[in-house]
Amino acid sequence: MVQTIFSQTSYEIPLTQKAVTFAKTHGPHTIETAWPVTQPKDLKPGEVLVRVVYTGVCHTDLHAWLGDWPLENKLPLVGGHEGSGYVAFIGPPLAGAEPSTLKVGDAVGIKWLADSCLHCEECNKGYESSCAKAQNSGFSIDGSFQQWAVSYAAHLTPLPAGFPLEAAAPILCAGVTVYKAIKEAALLSGEVVVIPGAGGGLGHLAVQYAKAMGYRVIAIDSGAEKEKLLASYGVTDFIDYMKGDVVKAVNDLTGGVGAHAAIVVASGAQAYEQALQYLRPHGALICVGMPPNGDIKANVFWTVVKSHRIIGSYVGNRQDAIEALDIAAAGKVHTTFTIEDLSALPSVFERMKALTLNGRIVLDCQ
Ligand code: NAD
Ligand code: ZN
Repeated sequence: MVQTIFSQTSYEIPLTQKAVTFAKTHGPHTIETAWPVTQPKDLKPGEVLVRVVYTGVCHTDLHAWLGDWPLENKLPLVGGHEGSGYVAFIGPPLAGAEPSTLKVGDAVGIKWLADSCLHCEECNKGYESSCAKAQNSGFSIDGSFQQWAVSYAAHLTPLPAGFPLEAAAPILCAGVTVYKAIKEAALLSGEVVVIPGAGGGLGHLAVQYAKAMGYRVIAIDSGAEKEKLLASYGVTDFIDYMKGDVVKAVNDLTGGVGAHAAIVVASGAQAYEQALQYLRPHGALICVGMPPNGDIKANVFWTVVKSHRIIGSYVGNRQDAIEALDIAAAGKVHTTFTIEDLSALPSVFERMKALTLNGRIVLDCQ
């Protein structure tokens, strides 16, 4: 599909648009053709209207629709939080704040973290996603599975000049999340990082960021297709978790001593238990994948004696997003994606549930 919407100095904003919605958790999706568009006069201080051009589909969107997590989302909901597009209209600035530096026509990204207060301790320390007032795209507010989305000037991410919008979309959640998670492991150059879930949306980017950051990668996922995809990034150590003993395989590949870190981006819980068994002393378990009802069962004695670090990592902050995009725009990380029409979302969810997707699906919202 060819991009037909480009940067403009002003946009004609329609009253209605295409959107994919659901009104009930795990209920049917509706392909809306006359979903209302928030009009410029109705934008509140700090809000921006974005003409969404492409949006990635993240497993988080699937978890939200299935009601997998102990949090309630808005209903009816327009999901989606990997949106790339153009600023179409900028609402008034927040009281006492400088006007936004964004301009109409700027290429921007919509992330999971749509807004935060920017004044609390979490925000001041750069942990904006943990702000008590955080708003999340495609969860607490409508997201990017539509053509015209309301987002927030403070958190929209400017996209690198000339970087294709369809390639940028998956970086806005999958990319920034794994880039941040790898930083959390605080590894030294050449150390061994294991990535369970390596063939999925987050995983295929995680292996590339880890390599670009100088680490040795062992990828875990299942099937010849995913192995082939990972080999295309130069990953030669692949373990199929459906075949054989994962812990033994990691130990064999590391001379019996285990890995320095595991960045678990798998959507299944079993990967966490395995990781604790193949980490070497002082190894870091970075928790990213969020399977429903997943518990991490860590033995206290071995956690202490091996001095394991167990760290939750939740997306990334505004600067992480800029860095993750810059690394991709410099050609060090490539998003592998297939473009489908926005209306294909229900079918994408079915394939995602079956764990048959390689890399990301990007939806065309034009
Ligand atoms: P995806 O469906 O594209 O990929 C998941 C991959 O995990 C698949 O390739 C699947 O084959 C693989 N997998 C499943 N069980 C496995 C196992 N036991 N061992 C190894 N691999 C296994 O999903 P995604 O969009 O990459 O998201 C992955 C997870 O990350 C989801 O739970 C999602 O909600 C979560 N996520 C977390 C954050 C965060 O901030 N922490 C951000 C985005 C997504
Ligand atoms: Zn996501």
